[in-house]
Amino acid sequence: MRRLRRTKIVATLGPSSSERSVIAALFRAGADVFRINMSHTSHERMRELVSTIRSVEEEFERPIGILVDLQGPKLRVGQFESGPVLLSKGATFTLDLDKTPGDVSRVHLPHPEIFQSIEPGHTLLLDDGKVRLTATEISEGKIATHVEVGGNLSDRKGVSLPDTMIPFSALAPKDRSDLEAALDTGIDWVALSFIQRPEDIAEAKKITRGRASVMAKIEKPQAVTRLDEILDVADALMVARGDLGVEMPLERVPGIQKFMTRSGRRAGKPVVVATQMLESMINSPVPTRAEVSDVATAIFEGADAVMLSAESAAGKFPVEAVSTMNRIAEEVENDPIHQTIIQAQRADPEPTGADAIAAAARQIAETLELSSLICWTSSGSTALRVARERPRPPIVAISPNVATARRLSLVWGVHCVVAEDAHDQDDMVERACRLAFKDGFAHAGRRVIVVAGVPLGTPGATNMLRIAFVGADAGSGL
Ligand code: PGA
Ligand code: MN
Repeated sequence: MRRLRRTKIVATLGPSSSERSVIAALFRAGADVFRINMSHTSHERMRELVSTIRSVEEEFERPIGILVDLQGPKLRVGQFESGPVLLSKGATFTLDLDKTPGDVSRVHLPHPEIFQSIEPGHTLLLDDGKVRLTATEISEGKIATHVEVGGNLSDRKGVSLPDTMIPFSALAPKDRSDLEAALDTGIDWVALSFIQRPEDIAEAKKITRGRASVMAKIEKPQAVTRLDEILDVADALMVARGDLGVEMPLERVPGIQKFMTRSGRRAGKPVVVATQMLESMINSPVPTRAEVSDVATAIFEGADAVMLSAESAAGKFPVEAVSTMNRIAEEVENDPIHQTIIQAQRADPEPTGADAIAAAARQIAETLELSSLICWTSSGSTALRVARERPRPPIVAISPNVATARRLSLVWGVHCVVAEDAHDQDDMVERACRLAFKDGFAHAGRRVIVVAGVPLGTPGATNMLRIAFVGADAGSGL
């Protein structure tokens, strides 16, 4: 089974898509990676979903990526004495450490860390930004604020602090236990919510110890400011436009998306564009023109993947949402302007053997119009460096590690194949041709290019490049 597009599709699973038949239909329609959102999923349900996805993987004989998204340190206010209160513009409202239920003048804020780091002038956004406060005076256990934008406030509504660097970890106790459970189940990617700094990623990596790759969700201005450092330690980025649009002015989100897709490509790390991409398809079988344009924009930018949240998790048309993304990607990628944009954004190779070979392989494959660019990759690093080149011919990544193949299912243009390790160079080339032929990426009488690190299994040692002729017998012996 081969996809006719380079951009990958991430589909979130939820009540609309927990049945095996729906998950299989989503995969058939084009989902390459499934996301499990731990804000709404129990450990037991997560394990069931993982085992269902693995059985779909077996049925289709194609590696599938599983992304577990951790809730992160979501801040919330406490409760109110007698239901919601109405905060009026210009009023004074206090947040404090007193557990007594709140009223129109005050409420409990059960996060002592905030009181040490907030400063007068900082903004507090409540309930997805619907209510806006400015801190005026900070005293022992009390934050006095001025109501800038009023509105209703009720029990346990979320609090965002876009200006305040809060000295706590991006892994709350719930996240740690969710992460351990996910790692035990054998997942491929873990996404960290509300990170503020590179140390947050490093902390998660101490726990994952390579058992899953780590994706940084960029949804706070503090993380945007330190994007380069975060990109140094993270394995991938998510443009988490939902919360980003709460913590920052909405009109800044498109520019940040472009900045992130470029930075990710330069670093050779995948970037996922997420949230509200086909929002109206939660209730409608067809998207709006603006939504189609939004998905197309991410594809023109060269994002590795586009993501569905509620559309596939809780909507009425999960399969239609995936096939809509699939159709948009196929169409946009065939537009000659897409090629021009992708080429123009290419970053220079870094001075390493892997990059020199990836760049040369792309050039040869394009000059000779080869059917595919095949790479043997043990850790996935060779495939990532080749994908960074965004070659015109499709990339086939062959790995002896199923975990590598699953992780690479998120990466632009990479068709992953699991195969046992090659014995020598000739075996490597011959098997590459056969495997590519089997999946429709090589044709008898035409040539492909094969890159690898010899001996295989030495990460970062990409040192071999061969142009190979695909014989008439490539299909035999499979
Ligand atoms: P969420 O993250 O769906 O977990 O909130 C994505 C976003 O904020 O856009
Ligand atoms: Mn979010």
